[in-house]
Formats: sequence, structure tokens, C-alpha cells
Amino acid sequence: MSAATTEIRSSTDVLLIGGGVMSATLGTFLQTLQPDWTIDIFERLDDVALESSNAWNNAGTGHSALCELNYTPERADGTIDISKALNVNEQFQISRQFWSFLVRSNQIPNPREFITPIPHMSFVWGDKNVDFLRRRYEALKDHPLFSGMRYSEDPEQLRQWMPLVMKDRAPGEKLAATWIASGTDVNFGALSRLLFRALSAKPGVALHTGHEVEDIKRGENGRWNVRVKALHTGQSRTVSARFVFIGAGGAALPLLQKTGIPESRGVGGFPVSGQFLRCKNPQVIAAHRAKVYGKASVGAPPMSVPHLDTRMIDGESSLLFGPYAGFSTRFLKKGSLFDLPRSIKGNNIGAILAVARDNWPLTKYLIQQVLQSQGDRMKALREFVPDARDEDWELIVAGQRVQVIKADAKKGGVLQFGTEVINSADGSVAALLGASPGASTAAPIMLTIIQRCFKTQLPAWEAKLKEMVPSFGQKLSDNPALCEQLRKSTTEALQLED
Ligand SMILES: Cc1cc2nc3c(=O)[nH]c(=O)nc-3n(C[C@H](O)[C@H](O)[C@H](O)COP(=O)(O)OP(=O)(O)OC[C@H]3O[C@@H](n4cnc5c(N)ncnc54)[C@H](O)[C@@H]3O)c2cc1C
Repeated sequence: MSAATTEIRSSTDVLLIGGGVMSATLGTFLQTLQPDWTIDIFERLDDVALESSNAWNNAGTGHSALCELNYTPERADGTIDISKALNVNEQFQISRQFWSFLVRSNQIPNPREFITPIPHMSFVWGDKNVDFLRRRYEALKDHPLFSGMRYSEDPEQLRQWMPLVMKDRAPGEKLAATWIASGTDVNFGALSRLLFRALSAKPGVALHTGHEVEDIKRGENGRWNVRVKALHTGQSRTVSARFVFIGAGGAALPLLQKTGIPESRGVGGFPVSGQFLRCKNPQVIAAHRAKVYGKASVGAPPMSVPHLDTRMIDGESSLLFGPYAGFSTRFLKKGSLFDLPRSIKGNNIGAILAVARDNWPLTKYLIQQVLQSQGDRMKALREFVPDARDEDWELIVAGQRVQVIKADAKKGGVLQFGTEVINSADGSVAALLGASPGASTAAPIMLTIIQRCFKTQLPAWEAKLKEMVPSFGQKLSDNPALCEQLRKSTTEALQLED
């Protein structure tokens, strides 16, 4: 994408901070709903989608609970709780509908530029885990959102689904997997670029790269004065905005704190960085085509579930394994080491200390991950690819995820692994914190922001919203006929498999 654009106006209707998938999605929604509004997007780097949304900085899984075992926990009585899986899948169906609208309206001419059908698999070993997977499959298989899922313990079938994973396995090992064709790999970096390209071609929309937002203060008449610095000239100026979205990824917390809104009090952040092993051998890459998710070890955070991933990035197939967690005090990959210390304030230190006290298994897990050698990482990989050779795999550094810490009346503070929208009571500013399920749920999360922050406009926007997301206002899990119809139409529009 191009570098910094048009002259900066002193006043705008909508100001979006950050050039990632979240701002791209919200900007696209708002421009379609209200084409006469002005929209200004500010990104500190010299191009969009260079942080978490970049294809190499995340795993590119279209999260829809088809393979992620952490979305189906086991209850104390041994039954499987599928409520979270239904919710995550339902959210992904909203993203699929939104993207299908963009394809049909020719804003994204070719869906293969950002989304590819790749089977999603769950893979486990050992009697206990096999029993769990069988019961998970039984609980999901008849639900319309999960139709097409298959289960097997037969080594021959498993070999067909994932030959690389089954190669050199000891005979008699107790293994099981589920397989579903409707899984996807999504290049969220390409998606962001496509959205920004379409958006910045619209009248009234301006994208300013190389511009860092330094401060956000309440101005007159409920507007926000946003101080922006042009990083190549050092010049700062203030833009007055009616609505501000803080889509700054990991750096959203410090900007939210600058607004001073009461809703920002007691909120803290804890950064966890990610690393992957990337395969360099084309023959190994060609021998595998699936996203294979395993089971997280005890005490590990949900985002650390090990997985072997076929990726499709810019027309080329690749293979990643991970993630391995790391620790850095930066909130962005290209952030500052002072990000974490500077975010600690009088109003959140209690919550942060309570989380440090209560999350010893997580701390232990992170210490163990940080101390890992390349040999330890290869050992973890060989549980998935038994004959993996050291020389075929290299370590790459992915994005930063800043987990949300919130004050809690009982515990003092709690650590959350999901995403959290925080907005002012008048809806004039909103921020997105956290990163899970992440980019896959950009469309439903941005719809939440629209519902919370644009209540006055909502009745007039409803028809257009239904055009973009036909299930808007309905629950697909309660409506099998609509679910079936939309699964079919989005599969067709996005050239997926079912
Ligand atoms: C290791 C890892 C694996 C992941 N795997 C998946 C996955 O498989 N599937 C999935 O759906 N999600 C996944 N995610 C999550 C997903 O990547 C994020 O949820 C998503 O990309 C966040 O988008 P964003 O727009 O909020 O942030 P970003 O893409 O990080 O964009 C924020 C932008 O704001 C800019 N910015 C920051 N501060 C300022 C400022 N002051 N002024 C101007 N600009 C600023 C940054 O430079 C950046 O470009 C993963 C994340 C990680 C780290």
C-alpha cells in the first residue's frame, strides 16, 4: 500500500487509530452505512498491516471452533460444554457474511487473495484424550454449524488426512482425530490491505501512514482532540473528531488511559509474545494440507495450544508449528520496552498485583517457555511431525498479544484471554483490547461497537446492516434453516468447501 496520503484536516467525523484488521473492518462498516461521513485513519508505521494483522505475525486460522479443543471444556460431570464453541463459530459466520458482501459488491474481487479452504483437524494421543475427543465429536457432529465433521481412530484414515503426522508412528499408539473440510486459512494482512485500498478510494476517507497518535483529550461539545505526530517530519497537529476508535492492537491500552474515561480505570495489560517454527523444505510443506490442533498442556494459557498449520500466503503454501510463548515488556512488535512499566497506574496496580499472585501456573508456563532451547522446540514439534529434521525448520517471531487485566471486586484482579471492547458511556470513544479469538471475529466485534456507540443511527442503518450481514439480529444456532442457507451462500461467495 502507498505511504502517507492527503493533507490532514482539522476536523473529522470518525478517527480510526491503527492500520490493522480491526480499524479496516470498522472503517468499511461505517463508510458503507454513512457514506457522507469523513473518516481519517492514522497508522504510525509506513504501511498498514505490519503488526499483529500481518500474515507472518499470527497463525491465520479462521477460528470457528472446528478444531480448537479449548472451546469445548469438560464439565465436572464428564459432559462436554459446547456453548463457547457455538458462540465462536457463530461469530465466524458473521465474518464470513461480511466478507461475502465485500466480494459480491466487488470491493474484494478475488476472495482467494485472503481466504483459502484448509481442513481443520483436532489430533490427540493417549486413552484419556482419545475418549475426550470422541465425546467432543459426539456433542458437535449433529449441530448445523459443525456438520461435515468426521472422527477416526483408524491409522489408515488418519494417514490419509495427515500423512506427515502419521509417518514413522509406533504401531499400536492410541491416536484419534477429527477432520472437517469447511476450515479456513485467512491472510489477515492481505484482508486489511484490500479493505484499506477499497476504503481509501472512497470520497471523504483519508489514510495517513507514518503518523502516530500521541494524545487524546476531551474537547468541547463532547468531541475528542487527538494529537497526531508526522513521524518523518516531527510535526504535530491536533484533529478534532466526533468518534474515535482505538484500534491500536497491543498499544490500545496506553491510548485508552490517555482518554481519562472512567471505564478505563482498573484496566491493565500483560504482553505475551509468540514464536513459530517455519518449515524451509518445500517437500515437507507439500506433504501436508491441514490445520492440526492438539491439546494444551496443564496450566498453559488457551492461546498456547500447539498446532501444525498449512498457511497460504500470497499464493504460496507454507507450514508453521507453534506458537511458543515468549515474554517482552513491549505492547507491539515494534513497540518500546517501556510499554508495560508505563501502563502501570495507581488505578490498575492492585489488579495487576492480584493477577501476578493468582496466576502462578501461567507464570511457571511462561518461564519454562522463555527458557526453552531450539532442541526443546524441536521435541515439541516431533510430537506432531515425528521425523522432523532440525535443518528444515527456522524460528520466526510473531506478534505481541496483550492480555487484559481487569479489576475484580472479589479477587482484586482477573486475567482475561478474550477480547474486550471498552467504550465511554456516550459512545464517542471505543477501544479494543485483547486478541482472542482475534482477527477472525473482527466483523462481530466491530458490530458490537456499532451497536454500543451509534445507538441513534442504528434504526436507520438496520436495513443496510442486514444487507452486509443477513443474520444480523438473529442467532444462527437457533435457526438451522438460515444457518444452512448462509453457510451455503458464503461457501459459494468465498470459494470455500463444505
Ligand atoms: C502469535 C499470534 C497468533 C495469532 N493467531 C491468530 C489466528 O490464528 N487467528 C486469528 O483470528 N487471530 C489470531 N491472532 C490475533 C490477531 O492477529 C489479532 O487479533 C488482530 O490482528 C488484531 O488486529 P488489530 O487491528 O487490533 O491490531 P494490529 O494488527 O496490531 O494493528 C494495530 C495497528 O495500530 C498501530 N498503532 C499502534 N499505536 C499507534 C499509535 N499511537 N498511533 C497510530 N498507530 C498506532 C500499529 O502500528 C498497528 O499497525 C494471533 C495473534 C498473535 C500475536
